[in-house]
Amino acid sequence: MSNRADIAIVGAGHGGAQAAIMLRQQKFEGSIALIGDEPEYPYERPPLSKEYFAGEKPFERIMIRPEKFWAERDVQMMLGRHVDTIDPEAHRLTFADGETLEYGKLIWAAGGIPRMLTCPGHDLVGVHAVRTRADTDAMTAKLDRVERVAIVGGGYIGLEAAAVLTKLGKKVVLLEAMDRVLARVAGAELSDFYEAYHRAQGVDLRTGATVTAITGDEGHVTGVELADGEVVPADMAIIGIGIVPAVEPLMDAGAQCDNGVLVDAQCRTSLPDVFAIGDCAAHANRFADGETVRLESVQNANDQATVVAKTIMGLPAEYDAIPWFWSNQYDLKLQTVGLSTGHDATVLRGDPAAGSFSIVYLKAGRVIALDCVSATKDYVQGRKLILERCTPDPSQLADPAIPLKELAD
Ligand code: FAD
Repeated sequence: MSNRADIAIVGAGHGGAQAAIMLRQQKFEGSIALIGDEPEYPYERPPLSKEYFAGEKPFERIMIRPEKFWAERDVQMMLGRHVDTIDPEAHRLTFADGETLEYGKLIWAAGGIPRMLTCPGHDLVGVHAVRTRADTDAMTAKLDRVERVAIVGGGYIGLEAAAVLTKLGKKVVLLEAMDRVLARVAGAELSDFYEAYHRAQGVDLRTGATVTAITGDEGHVTGVELADGEVVPADMAIIGIGIVPAVEPLMDAGAQCDNGVLVDAQCRTSLPDVFAIGDCAAHANRFADGETVRLESVQNANDQATVVAKTIMGLPAEYDAIPWFWSNQYDLKLQTVGLSTGHDATVLRGDPAAGSFSIVYLKAGRVIALDCVSATKDYVQGRKLILERCTPDPSQLADPAIPLKELAD
């Protein structure tokens, strides 16, 4: 095995896989090493809290490409290998086992590490994160013996896990420390809707619930203790409280970092010949009014990968993609386009009670984002309103009988 690659990609998840795919699609002829610390060939992460967790899709159906694809494209797969350090001057990275690999260019696509609790009991058997196939498999293997699950964190992953487990007949308590679920990513109307929907499905969903300890017996979870002293009984605890960007080796090598590694419009870091993409890359985003943000979405990972591949091929490319995202819970399909952060008004289109509606987010009258619940038409047509910085009349926006495409300025 050669210990040099023209391009080394660290992280064989969404961004890393797409970078390799795009490089070959752009006719890059040099050597590519795709390095990942998980043992699996690249697979899709979103199903881990949705169809894969529910047992509705086998692993083969969530693989980004069939195994043979990578050999056919002459991508050297270095799986089960963790990169510990980078020497940017020498253009060399070192694996956990001490082996080294020299690179011409490095694409850092290492994603994030689940943030875990630090309270007493955080490391008991039965406390789980949801980031990798191994995480989901570890939960699935125990589910037969689990009746009650406590989910800590009311973000998308926590809510999706709650939906799957409820459908599987488990008693689910969802504990969110803030005063509403999805507080980090959506407006209050969407939070209210999802809270009510989960409760109607039988989830004991609590906001303002701060976890102070995980209780256990003989090393295994028995419950979750809250700040008011109540202990919620549970046989399993799932922690979905966000991720920490996986950038330590870059930071140690001197890359500029601030909640992720900072990248420019071509996804270059401050280190020579080192790019970064996906969940770990903080970038100035036009759809956040130029603010530096770090997006955690498949769209962002894929689009940044494409920008890097083109840049490496000497083609003009700039990361300027409109953000989009989805979440499936029960029979609800949420599709989000744009970024709602900084909105100063919202308009509701449609009737939440009917299970199909959209929330349009405005900033100084301009449409900046939409959350569309089982309302794909709004999602598709609303995109244009954001891209064209439209300022439609709110009363027309609120009328679901008027298609959004008719409201472009
Ligand atoms: P990842 O896909 O996480 O890949 C990074 C890889 O790098 C990992 O395999 C990691 O183990 C590896 N790695 C890290 N450090 C090292 C190292 N030092 N050496 C070697 N390898 C390393 N997004 C959506 O758009 N829609 C959704 O519905 C959605 N649902 C999600 C559900 C779940 C359960 C999760 C976990 C995520 C979900 N996301 C969703 C987010 C989406 O999966 C991520 O934004 C996307 O995976 C980011 O891609 P990435 O390449 O940056 O990182």
